[in-house]
Amino acid sequence: MNDRTFFNEEIETLPKEKLQALQLQRLQAIVERAYTQNEFYRRLYDEAGVKPSDIRTLEDIRKLPFLEKKTVRAAYPYGMAFARPGKEGGAVQIHATSGTTGKSVPVFATKKDIGYWSDLNARELWMTGMRPGDVLLNCYGYGMATGGFGFHYGAMAMDVMAVPMGSDARQYDRMLDFIIDFGVTAMCMTPSVGLYVGNKARERGVDFKETKLKIGLFGAEPWPWETRLKLEELFNITAFDEFGMTEFLGPGMTCECDVRDGMHAWADAFLVECIDPETGEPLPEGSDGELVWTWLSADGTAMIRYRSRDLSRTWWDERCACGRTHPKIASIKGRSDDAVSIRGLIVFPSQVEAALVKFPETGANFRIVVDKKNGLDTFELKVEVKDSALLFDPERVRVVSREMAESVKTVTGNSPKIELVATDSLPRASGGESKTASARVEDRRK
Ligand SMILES: [Zn+2]
Repeated sequence: MNDRTFFNEEIETLPKEKLQALQLQRLQAIVERAYTQNEFYRRLYDEAGVKPSDIRTLEDIRKLPFLEKKTVRAAYPYGMAFARPGKEGGAVQIHATSGTTGKSVPVFATKKDIGYWSDLNARELWMTGMRPGDVLLNCYGYGMATGGFGFHYGAMAMDVMAVPMGSDARQYDRMLDFIIDFGVTAMCMTPSVGLYVGNKARERGVDFKETKLKIGLFGAEPWPWETRLKLEELFNITAFDEFGMTEFLGPGMTCECDVRDGMHAWADAFLVECIDPETGEPLPEGSDGELVWTWLSADGTAMIRYRSRDLSRTWWDERCACGRTHPKIASIKGRSDDAVSIRGLIVFPSQVEAALVKFPETGANFRIVVDKKNGLDTFELKVEVKDSALLFDPERVRVVSREMAESVKTVTGNSPKIELVATDSLPRASGGESKTASARVEDRRK
């Protein structure tokens, strides 16, 4: 059983046209259910003049209005629910976005959802090379965000032992002890927690070649290829990218296979579109745009055409070199909310990260601060250093700052004023929902 290639071969390798037929069938069913059982959707679709019977092909999804985060928030607390607690088949678990910029968006899971969630996550863990008997150090939050529970259920479903560590990077010493002492073979966390713990491990002199660790699964914030190389070097692992959103019980939405060229998006459970964020028009396959998600397999919550604000692209080959037939999305480039325009040029935190991670002096975190002075944009970049002793050497501070500014200018076109700051002094993303990158941008012009 352990030597099979797929966790769920039948669905993971179902031919594309059969997957699309399944998608259409599930889309029709979910729209019908939303319209007949949910007041919020009935009103939304009546206003748009669209009926469930209008959905005859997958393209017909474009007739349905988008869900914006603010629309969904207005439906708080139970407006998006298919299932409430209190009767058989009802909701048994709730998660919610952090609500830092308004009301939380809740997601309700029935037992059926939890079963599907487990299967999707087990497919992903299996896809990255984990097998029954492996030990997974799970450094996502076990709380209202979904990261911790999602991978935990996936591990249960495939007989992997989960270590429910949680996302607090301050317990790095314990994380490192557990990796060594319990024979941890795989770990999952945000890339910024990964960089932090990896640097701490280096200070402590941990040699990961002496441990069983071999796989790292990172997600919940955009991260460039340079960060992947750094994480692989720090931990002596193969690093994989995964992406999910709390609103859809992510993780379990998308993950890289061993080809590591884009993430498979599970087509039996989700339908992903890519649109022009300005006009809302669909974009041709492979073009950069905003991802829009529809949850096809949902039982407890209705999420149909939800605008994610995440920028990426999608494509769907007949079959990937790994054997899977599901479509792909590229790594998340950034969020349209996080892209800052500085002196007329668009800057993404992930570009800045790519420029900084090359420096051995760079710590785990940075923060972009944009302001306006005398009518001109200012671009300040606070960068945590790995070793705070550096801050007491003015000459090195000057040299490193200048080199970093040049490196950032090369990728963004904008030259920042660098301020090196102590380790752990900046806010850090803990993962679990897709807007975490906003911890990295402070736009004082707003
Ligand atoms: Zn693949």
